[in-house]
Amino acid sequence: MKEGKGEIELIKEGKRLDGRGFEELRPIKIEVGVLKRADGSCYFELGGNKVIAAVYGPREMHPRHAQDAKMAVVRYRYNMAPFSVDDRKRPGPDRRSVEISKVSREALDPVVMREYYPKTSIDVYVEVLQSDAGTRTAGINAASVALADAGIPMKDLVSSVAVGKIDGEVVLDLDAMEDNNGEADMPVAMVARTNTITLLQMDGRFEKEEFERGLKLAMSACHKIYELQRAALIDRYSESVGEGEE
Ligand code: ADP
Repeated sequence: MKEGKGEIELIKEGKRLDGRGFEELRPIKIEVGVLKRADGSCYFELGGNKVIAAVYGPREMHPRHAQDAKMAVVRYRYNMAPFSVDDRKRPGPDRRSVEISKVSREALDPVVMREYYPKTSIDVYVEVLQSDAGTRTAGINAASVALADAGIPMKDLVSSVAVGKIDGEVVLDLDAMEDNNGEADMPVAMVARTNTITLLQMDGRFEKEEFERGLKLAMSACHKIYELQRAALIDRYSESVGEGEE
């Protein structure tokens, strides 16, 4: 649990160390279809986070005993590159990446129309190339766009962001300095159009009122991210239609 070390002053004159206001997202960049060999892919940047998502499928699922006779199975692998953090990270899965893979899959599952593709798997690979806190949220945003790019029928996109508490203030989208020295961190994922929350985790403590305010803030930021995800997809596909006509 977070203790909020309080050694570093994270807010000075009403601004955060990187100059952001309390309710401000880091800059976001989205690119669709960046990998030739994947069925769908997306590069997603959130401030200092750089992640890439690749989707394969629906394809016949192996091992067969893991198949679902009635629907597709979504598999999600979150992986942090050894060079993505300050100290080289030991390669391969660990408890943290297994947990993040599980909750991220559960965050996306409700929108994927899995009943269309019995006995298949839809495999989502998320690679964190550079990390600065909020990588699971960036991964979910990237994966959601990559699933759409793969042409997988979905009810809607999923959008995700974290809120937290630093120096006693509820703020949006913590960076690593804030995450390491703050009091709380709460990643949220939701289907923005219907306001359906599909992931909510919390590290640290919020008072009830702070939780409610934080959740509202995260939900409104998810709406903004949703618009950016949609715009990136529209941009990509209007581009390819244009190219075809030439
Ligand atoms: P998230 O990236 O979703 O916020 P965490 O809260 O677990 O997930 O991690 C916060 C941040 O801590 C990461 O984005 C990364 O910058 C840093 N971090 C996580 N794991 C490691 C690690 N093994 N080595 C160095 N830094 C790490």
